[in-house]
Amino acid sequence: MRLFAAVLPPPAQLAELAREVDRLAHLPGAGRLRWTSRPGWHFTLAFMGEVDDALLPDLHARLARAAHRTAPFPLRLHGGGHFGRAVLWTGAAGDLDRLRLLADRTEAAARRAGVPMDEHRAYHPHLTVARSRAQDVDLRPLVAALAPFEGSRWEVAELALVRSHLPGGGRPGEQPRYETVAAWALDGAG
Ligand code: ATP
Ligand code: MG
Repeated sequence: MRLFAAVLPPPAQLAELAREVDRLAHLPGAGRLRWTSRPGWHFTLAFMGEVDDALLPDLHARLARAAHRTAPFPLRLHGGGHFGRAVLWTGAAGDLDRLRLLADRTEAAARRAGVPMDEHRAYHPHLTVARSRAQDVDLRPLVAALAPFEGSRWEVAELALVRSHLPGGGRPGEQPRYETVAAWALDGAG
């Protein structure tokens, strides 16, 4: 199954972001973007891709251990950014060191469980709000509109393992469906 580990912001913070994203809809190009499904909004910690069922017990055990070693930490949604002309996102502020630590531990857990992980890359915490397939939209005005956004802080208290069901219907604009298959409390000290 296709899996990734993520931080899932609470409903109140997602509602704040939804109000911001609603304001972007009238900007030039907004209609040509594929806006991500709001119930699925997340910060990816580590993308695993297709994971063999045989690896799941060890993967779960190692992710549980990573969560149980990590202390909860404050985070808030913050500003906006883009990856080229492909991805529009909101960022995070708060204890980014601990977010990065959790991402590193999660990636290491997956690797040790035997999941073939991409080469380690710099971690850019982001929550994707829209994608552009044709890459014909200048995302900078949307980023500028998102820049002043500051969400209210929350305490990240859980590591989630999420399954991604990619759309099979071939309908344009169809979204993947995300399903949280497991979650572990962050109840460590480090
Ligand atoms: P779609 O692929 O239809 O655009 P999606 O990217 O949301 O949808 P997935 O491809 O299953 O769905 O990805 C799940 C999450 O993992 C998303 O946040 C995505 O940005 C991230 N992700 C996907 N592939 C990678 C990758 N190779 N490296 C890092 N993160 C990835
Ligand atoms: Mg994808």
